Amino acid sequence: IPASVRTEIDNMYEFLPELKKHFQVMKKIGEGTFSSVFQAKLRNHPKVDQLFALKHIIPTSHPSRIETELKCLQQLGGKNNVMGVELCLRSKDHIVIVMPYFPHDRFQDCLLSLTPDEIKNYMKNLLIALRHIHEYDVIHRDVKPSNFLFNRKTQQFSLVDFGLAHKAPVALKKNDARTQFELPIYHQSPKKKNIKTTSKLEASSHGPLRSLNASKGPSLALDKRGHKSHKNTTSVTTGSTSRSVRSPRQLLLMKQAMSKARSSLSSSSQKSSSRLITCSCFGKAMVCRICTEKVNQIAPRAGTPGFRSPEVLMKYPHQTTSVDIWSAGVIFLSLLSGRYPFFKANDDLTALAQIITLMGSEPVKNAAKIIGKDLICLPQTKSMNLQNLCFNLRNVETNEKFKPGTQTKNKTASQFIEAVTHSAFDLLVKMLDLNPNTRITAEDALEHEYFK
Ligand code: ADP
Ligand code: MG
Repeated sequence: IPASVRTEIDNMYEFLPELKKHFQVMKKIGEGTFSSVFQAKLRNHPKVDQLFALKHIIPTSHPSRIETELKCLQQLGGKNNVMGVELCLRSKDHIVIVMPYFPHDRFQDCLLSLTPDEIKNYMKNLLIALRHIHEYDVIHRDVKPSNFLFNRKTQQFSLVDFGLAHKAPVALKKNDARTQFELPIYHQSPKKKNIKTTSKLEASSHGPLRSLNASKGPSLALDKRGHKSHKNTTSVTTGSTSRSVRSPRQLLLMKQAMSKARSSLSSSSQKSSSRLITCSCFGKAMVCRICTEKVNQIAPRAGTPGFRSPEVLMKYPHQTTSVDIWSAGVIFLSLLSGRYPFFKANDDLTALAQIITLMGSEPVKNAAKIIGKDLICLPQTKSMNLQNLCFNLRNVETNEKFKPGTQTKNKTASQFIEAVTHSAFDLLVKMLDLNPNTRITAEDALEHEYFK
């Protein structure tokens, strides 16, 4: 054990003497933003060979967050591919969650050698876990390979890490035990008003799209206050304040977009849409009174940028369990294309630009409209055919990892794509539906032809 880990373990023993009494910590197995995870065995029962995973949550975590994680593990876990909990130890602000140890493989290590059948089994088991938690209206919010443990040899799976989970708005079903599953509400502190900072970022496709030499993604600018825009700029406006210096052509384009948005939104009952209609400063170098009086729109945006759905990226406040399906769709895309991470973005705007590069500007714009947002995107980009894209990505050996012979037991890309079947891509498209309202549910996905 490295000295630094030894110190960490000793500190944990010191904070939680009870832990030291019962467990012998063997090694560190994971470290995230909010925790460190260790492997341990029982100290006083040498004959018991059961191993445990101890998750030491960072002391600054919000209590409701910890409560959420425990509640999910305890009440929803232990079945349907969802991790369970054995015990929880606490001393002051130090908390350790004790789970059964789940031996697992690293996603990126197996990715290129997974057979089409293994991919199908992976997706099926992921959807089983999601169907289970979604039945309780719980959104995981951080579905990604490192939170869905998988053991290739035993073909076992386990969804972990409910640190970001929360309840979706429930369509009340009377006396349903599932709706009585409550989670604490974690209030994100509202963002400060009048933020002066400018978020303008070049969309860089570090991910697989780049290696395909796909048309470079558009650049994005979140239309906040007072910053210059330039050619090839996509503005993501949230229907709130906007005061930018723009060229006459840009103003014209914006005015056109606004009048289009007005006419298409006038029938909508969305509050955010009506805000957009009444605002009179859009595209002008000023902020009107209506806009200055607006409350900042707050929407959950936890998770990992590359797995965030378009509605999360565009700060849509009414998110549902469908955000997890999008993330699962991104994993599916990795499995089919053999590229991980598929979207490599450090921030929301880059992530959105990459989605636009893949799905095309018009479809993303239309999806934005449905959730009451006005997305302006220049230049226009076409959508890619996901099946062809996966074929090309499997075919092009640009990546170092593509050493000859490692690729799916020497199967050629076309053989691979053929074996995957067309129905896989049909399901993929339904999971990566830009419109959260029509995106397939876990329950329906499991009924899809792909799994028949
Ligand atoms: P974080 O919130 O820090 O991301 P996670 O719960 O995702 O914490 O755990 C981090 C890592 O620890 C996981 O990616 C996984 O590799 C490992 N891990 C977590 N729980 C278990 C478990 N029960 N068994 C084995 N490994 C686990
Ligand atoms: Mg995690």
